[in-house]
Amino acid sequence: MNDRITLNNDITMPALGFGVFQTPPAETAASVAEALRVGYRLIDTAAAYGNEREVGEAVRASGLDRSEVFIETKLWISDYGYEEALNGFDKSAGKLGVDTIDLLLLHQPLTSDFDKTIGAYKALETLLADGRVRSIGVSNFMPEVLERLLAATDVVPAVNQVEVHPFFSQSDVQKADAGHGILTQAWSPMGGITSYGGSDRSTFDDPVIGEIAAQHGKTPAQVMLRWHLQQGRSAIPKSVRPERITANFDVFDFELTEEELARIDALETGVRSGPDPDSITLASFARDIPEA
Ligand code: NDP
Repeated sequence: MNDRITLNNDITMPALGFGVFQTPPAETAASVAEALRVGYRLIDTAAAYGNEREVGEAVRASGLDRSEVFIETKLWISDYGYEEALNGFDKSAGKLGVDTIDLLLLHQPLTSDFDKTIGAYKALETLLADGRVRSIGVSNFMPEVLERLLAATDVVPAVNQVEVHPFFSQSDVQKADAGHGILTQAWSPMGGITSYGGSDRSTFDDPVIGEIAAQHGKTPAQVMLRWHLQQGRSAIPKSVRPERITANFDVFDFELTEEELARIDALETGVRSGPDPDSITLASFARDIPEA
């Protein structure tokens, strides 16, 4: 298992990153600072999270060279369309305080207005050609939507960031991604959404994961993250608690067996905890992304 992954455009990035969805702006700089201190070198944010500015502050304050930190962010659907997405990049880069974004994703497909989605992706292609972003990709693109995108654009996305955890692993999406050389990056990699999303069963309390964790002297969170890494996915766990931020990065000193990986695979429920990507429309999810 490699702790870095080479994308389909030869850019490399850490397999394990740090997410900041639902991290309040006031807590973001401290949690990103802690993550960078313990060794994370990939930060995943989004225009819609409202904390890009604080991510940028923490990266600058870390003393690390800009080239050592892989910054990933996402354009929100309110900024889709070609010109709008170019402006969306300016807003994100401005808040992050960077000239170049390492990986820029479309946060959601807008299936009800796919022309705008295509326009936004073409803007990402322009930004890539101009060297403003080092790689481009998508998030929450199901296989048939991905095919529609590929048919209308030139650059194959480097990454598709989707809900993947032991209760919902979207093997069809992973297969489609792999078929195009697209890296699947797991959001809610430890199944956080199964706890805060209101499901009655949480991955953290699953007895099979608990048993495997006990076997290795590790925590359920660490076992879930290791499961992603050994299966070749990128994962971006989130926490605001220093002890968890540290523990979630401590996954490079043990190995799950094939049998253990298969037992975790078998926890699949077929039920997504996040929103159905088809349900994301401007009518229900538009939000104003402020200028930088
Ligand atoms: P995670 O699987 O990372 O779980 C995070 C949740 O679990 C938080 O409630 C956190 O609470 C808790 N937690 C963290 N570490 C531990 C631990 N070791 N033991 C027990 N509980 C723990 O889910 P997220 O939904 O946060 O997803 C991670 C990242 O993925 C996001 O931050 C974001 O970057 C991305 N994402 C992208 C989406 C998209 O549509 N593209 C959608 C959702 C997420 P606490 O902070 O209190 O520790």
